[in-house]
Amino acid sequence: MFRPLALLRPALSLLLAAIFSLPAQAAAPDWCAQIGKRLGSVPTEQCRKLGLEAAPEKTRNGHALMRRDYPAAAQKIAALGKGERAPRILIIGGIHGDELAAASLVFRWMRWIDEGDARQYHWRVIPVANPDGLLATPPQRTNANGVDLNRNFPTPDWSEDAHAYWQSKTRKDPRRFPGKQANSEIETRWLNAQIEDFKPDVIVATHAPYGLLDYDGPARQPRRFGHLNLNRLGVYPGSLGNYGGVHKKLPVITIELPNANSLPPLKEQREIWDDMQTWLRRNIGPRQVS
Ligand SMILES: [Zn+2]
Repeated sequence: MFRPLALLRPALSLLLAAIFSLPAQAAAPDWCAQIGKRLGSVPTEQCRKLGLEAAPEKTRNGHALMRRDYPAAAQKIAALGKGERAPRILIIGGIHGDELAAASLVFRWMRWIDEGDARQYHWRVIPVANPDGLLATPPQRTNANGVDLNRNFPTPDWSEDAHAYWQSKTRKDPRRFPGKQANSEIETRWLNAQIEDFKPDVIVATHAPYGLLDYDGPARQPRRFGHLNLNRLGVYPGSLGNYGGVHKKLPVITIELPNANSLPPLKEQREIWDDMQTWLRRNIGPRQVS
């Protein structure tokens, strides 16, 4: 018996599969294509080659939280003493979404990380900690909930001081709103989970546009990286420097580029990177396995 439906069934199932796969694709916007459009120095194809991995969590606007791990090189691990491990360095860029150069710089570092001795460390790199802010039109400092993520970390002084500081010192500047509660934001919780899980020995965060180097924590403070001189700004309730440097007793280096919208000349980018490597080499040696 002739059964046209039986012949059609494979084609029909292919068609249905194609239709049902569409919403899934639409729900996962191409992160690197969006970054490539936003950051002039990060072409989409170059971003794709960096091998960033998406966390299971998504931001409020549906963007991925991306990271990449670079374990220490095998020959560096082989050269470690007994019971030692490579130091771990966590890099966090773009926590303020309108500081485009701060994110661009971290993408640049990802291209340099295999050079020289940098792979004596285990790096975890988060180039864009606030994708909703960076990819907003126009880009904005806060996340999609209007929270300044760098005031949302759960520092011990948060409950008492974060809102008081916001009201009296910033006059309720909406760009500096610390959130309704400490750690209320998915991005802050995710960053916190990276700190808990990766257990970094150093955190490096990039910002703009103050053109300086800031430092919190127990190691010897750096004097300058490239043209950026140390100028300690002090800590704020809920800031990463306060949380990591004061509360968790980790060295937290804050790099403030001089311009939020464009990177410094390549030579200066290189000097910042090289001076950071020198500081790490002198101050952050191999750790005992605990
Ligand atoms: Zn900033």
